Amino acid sequence: MKILIIEDELELATSIANYLNCEKYICEMAHNYADALDKIELYQYECIILDLNLPDGCGFDIIKSLKMNRSESGIIIISARNALNDKIEGLDLGADDYLSKPFSLSELNARLRSVIRRRHFKGQVEYAYNEIKVQPDVRKVFVNDILLELTRKEYDLLIFLITNQRRVLSKETIIEHLWGDYMGIEADSYNALYTHMGNLRKKLQDAGSKDYIETVYAVGYKLNLDK
Ligand code: CA
Repeated sequence: MKILIIEDELELATSIANYLNCEKYICEMAHNYADALDKIELYQYECIILDLNLPDGCGFDIIKSLKMNRSESGIIIISARNALNDKIEGLDLGADDYLSKPFSLSELNARLRSVIRRRHFKGQVEYAYNEIKVQPDVRKVFVNDILLELTRKEYDLLIFLITNQRRVLSKETIIEHLWGDYMGIEADSYNALYTHMGNLRKKLQDAGSKDYIETVYAVGYKLNLDK
């Protein structure tokens, strides 16, 4: 899952990114308002961690842009401003949560898990899709109560398909989601995607799941749980 950290304090941004990387998120950073706007226009993020005081702009305007563009990203504000009005304004603009600096990284991580649960899993720690059961907090997937041994990429791929079920996802969208902007779209990335997709399908079916992943010719893939 891809997270964007918008924070001009480099040390704090880096420590958040390192912590969340260890928690298996893909993190990108923007250190000013202009870069942040570029990124949110180009890419989709699962959640945006947003500092309000940026050298060239205000975080509230980023929330407004996200909402104007009907972004589905979660938003957690992190700010040294401890004023009640800022919290209320941020939440009213559409942020999901607010953390006052300084905060512990483990608390940020817990709030991130909670935002993801609410957005995709109706707030549940366990969510079932037919014979597939997902426990997002611990990144576990079961088929008919058998725990699947999924790699990090296979898990991310399955969750991306599940959270976008019935939509056709282009290969490029999936590649960008799985690798972030570290990997340009080139032949290697398609091959990596085909490999992960093949392995994921096989593991699901070996455990007794139906083959819900449909290949959409020349475009990408779609998860169809209505089979
Ligand atoms: Ca700041």
